[in-house]
Amino acid sequence: MKFYPNYIDGQWVEAKSGRRYQSINPANGEVLGEVALSGPEDVDAAVEAARKAFESWRLYPAPKRGEILFRAAEILVRRKEELARMLTREMGKVLPEARGDVQEAIDIAYYMAAEGRRQFGHTVPSELPDKFAFSVREPIGVVGIITPWNFPTAIPFWKMMPALILGNTVVFKPASDTPIMAALLVEVLEEAGIPKGVVNLVYGPGDTVGEALIRHPHVQLISFTGSVESGKHVAVTAAQHGMKRVTLELGGKNAIIVLEDANLDLAVDGIIWSAFGTTGQRCTAASRVIVQRSVAKKLEEKLVERISKLRLGDGLLETTDVGPLIHTRARDKVHMYVEIGKQEGARLVVGGEPAMEGELAKGAFYKPTLFAEVKPDMRIAQEEIFGPVLALIPVDTMEEAIKVNNSVQYGLSSAMYTQDVNKAFKAIRDLATGIVYINAGTIGAEIHLPFGGYRNTGNGHREAGQAALDAYSEWKSVYVDYSGRLQRAQIDNQ
Ligand code: NAP
Repeated sequence: MKFYPNYIDGQWVEAKSGRRYQSINPANGEVLGEVALSGPEDVDAAVEAARKAFESWRLYPAPKRGEILFRAAEILVRRKEELARMLTREMGKVLPEARGDVQEAIDIAYYMAAEGRRQFGHTVPSELPDKFAFSVREPIGVVGIITPWNFPTAIPFWKMMPALILGNTVVFKPASDTPIMAALLVEVLEEAGIPKGVVNLVYGPGDTVGEALIRHPHVQLISFTGSVESGKHVAVTAAQHGMKRVTLELGGKNAIIVLEDANLDLAVDGIIWSAFGTTGQRCTAASRVIVQRSVAKKLEEKLVERISKLRLGDGLLETTDVGPLIHTRARDKVHMYVEIGKQEGARLVVGGEPAMEGELAKGAFYKPTLFAEVKPDMRIAQEEIFGPVLALIPVDTMEEAIKVNNSVQYGLSSAMYTQDVNKAFKAIRDLATGIVYINAGTIGAEIHLPFGGYRNTGNGHREAGQAALDAYSEWKSVYVDYSGRLQRAQIDNQ
């Protein structure tokens, strides 16, 4: 069986303890490989390597750093199918979506490669004569990257590419459930020519390996994507250990609003894709549909017809629409929420139980589920379920719909279906989420726009696009006085 070691200072190495664990296919329980089970001592070695490498990487010309990232993108293009297939086996999403996950990594690698020649600062006039003023971006140092399993290629590259192009070095702790994908990404960077120590990979549990990374005195930034619960812990711990910078990309409880003038068939396409794509395990997945009462019944009927036809199975099969959940614990959590929904008085319309027929019994499958007549304050309408469960919430007006949309602790993505341009623009203004779609579902972000959310979805940072550069750099303002005399700002020019 293939073994996946850590990658530290340019070497593939066992965990110092020699311990290992297994990566499992959630569709059928197949063991995919063995992985290093590290501890804090491995984090120490990785951070030390990254610290040493920072001294030369920060001085390596940014356009040259860009060439390495560009090569990584080219290698990913070449290996796209191989990575996508392993992604489906390790994480469970259907193959076309796995290809999309890899494509997102390719897109961000090309985008950030070009930033090597485009790290613009500002040159501005000084308020004093014979004085020159400008600002430049500088790298921060060693960046600790902690990622979830649901986008095991896109999210690590969303973080690594901006960190690297700006001259930071990286210690990467991937989710324990998708370790092989992390190894493949690091292999790509190694082949692209990333110098030793610039990227390091340490496997292991969040509460020991992740924790050691957050507490480490020589890590300057923690870039974290995961649940709100873990994110809060990361923020508190990072503040207590060196007042580190922390970027948090956390959960969602995203809604699609369907107004009575909407094209209902178009809305149904967007709802099915957003609610059941990736088996509902996207931070941007739609788990609420807020619908104007006059069209609620019609929409429900159309949804039931489509949901009943969704085919569960191994994501590698072309016949599969919806893959497994990441593991049986996740399936149990989804079922717990379904029971809560029933107890709260929501009407279960379709689904509502694990799928155990035939081959499905070997994996973590759950039937796509729809609840109707859900009230906005029910737990199934407030809490992130992270599975194939959708709640239909009837309302009377657009204003009420927007209020309901904004009434959850999360604020990542929202969508509205309407044919009325005036309503669309009011919604764009009033929907309190970091991403808004008009006449499209809640998923499908593109890498050159900022990505992140309001309220508990994060702490104000954004990934992707130009916004990501701010997360991974310090601004330095420089004043050069060539007057040959003391000039005091705010005093000598009055
Ligand atoms: P999670 O349990 O918070 O885990 C995320 C990562 O944090 C994993 O690598 C995990 O390690 C690690 N971790 C857990 N506890 C830690 C600790 N005490 N210290 C340091 N690291 C720790 O989340 P998940 O279940 O993997 O992912 C699902 C969540 O991510 C959902 O809430 C989803 O909405 C969110 N998400 C958000 C975005 C976004 O951009 N906003 C994107 C994708 C997913 P182990 O794997 O070893 O437990």
